[in-house]
Amino acid sequence: MSRRSKTLVLSLALVGLGASAPSALALVRAKPHRSASALPMARRLAALPPNELGRIPILEWHQVVDADGSYKVSRERFKAELTELHARGYVPINLSEMLDKKIDIPAGKSPVLFTFDDASPSQFRYLERGGALVVDPSSAVGILLDFIKAHPDWKAKGLFCALPAASVGHAFFGDKGIDGQKTAWRFPKLRFLVDQGFELCNHTLWHAQLNKFSDAVVQEQLARGALAIDSALPNYKIRGLALPYGIWPKNKALAYSGVWFDKKAKRDVTYANEAVFLVAGGPARSPFDPEFNAKALPRVPLQGGTKLTPTLDAMDKPGSMARYVSDGNPKTIAR
Ligand SMILES: [Zn+2]
Repeated sequence: MSRRSKTLVLSLALVGLGASAPSALALVRAKPHRSASALPMARRLAALPPNELGRIPILEWHQVVDADGSYKVSRERFKAELTELHARGYVPINLSEMLDKKIDIPAGKSPVLFTFDDASPSQFRYLERGGALVVDPSSAVGILLDFIKAHPDWKAKGLFCALPAASVGHAFFGDKGIDGQKTAWRFPKLRFLVDQGFELCNHTLWHAQLNKFSDAVVQEQLARGALAIDSALPNYKIRGLALPYGIWPKNKALAYSGVWFDKKAKRDVTYANEAVFLVAGGPARSPFDPEFNAKALPRVPLQGGTKLTPTLDAMDKPGSMARYVSDGNPKTIAR
């Protein structure tokens, strides 16, 4: 029997979203689809059978600059990657949708989570134009927002794993005149991203390699990373941490929660992360997969020699790496 004809819809209507034991779910047979090979490309994408236990790529970009390199992709390549994702039926989602198991995208489409690490000006630059601040269209945020404007089926979603106080401008997208960016623009940039629909995640205070430090310093790095975001956006709920270099602290539990005493304010600062991102590992499991583990989410790094197309090609093959495809109904889990 082909995979297509075995397509089943697991209806959660009776048991509520969040139930994960397949035995508790009613099985509903979905309508069979036409043979994919008989259809032209556009129709074939629309005809992908639902697979909501499939994989979701969590893409990871660092700098978006003139040319590819270590931790760098060219602006042209970044645009081409967005174009390829759109053409192959991917739709950006947010981390919160993954964690809350509320992925509401059209039938036949596949979710992708964008992550941007290190908060460089190349990701988000402002230009001053007649006294007003405008997003530099050559920065990653500018390129992405322009792409979304031209492709209204995409919304501004994705995760910025920010550093508030790292060197050479890696401080909430640039400070002290680096790359023309003013220190005063740092908090407005964070607010702008959240207003657009993007989300923010912690990436420590200044990118400390966490296994080299004491428990106290690890907690200070994470608490102060969270505190800096809170200073720009009071009570913003941070849900994820990207481990610098993908390296865990010696005491792994401190990646998820901890506390640091702020001597200046004379108070404890706590932090909590539901999701922790690694730097590699391939496409992530669906949050509906019983083996989904938000506490160690693999990612697909895009830089110099690491291209997007092979990952997407691998996800278009049947098997355990096959991509998540929506059935268009957020109340059912189809596989
Ligand atoms: Zn980083």
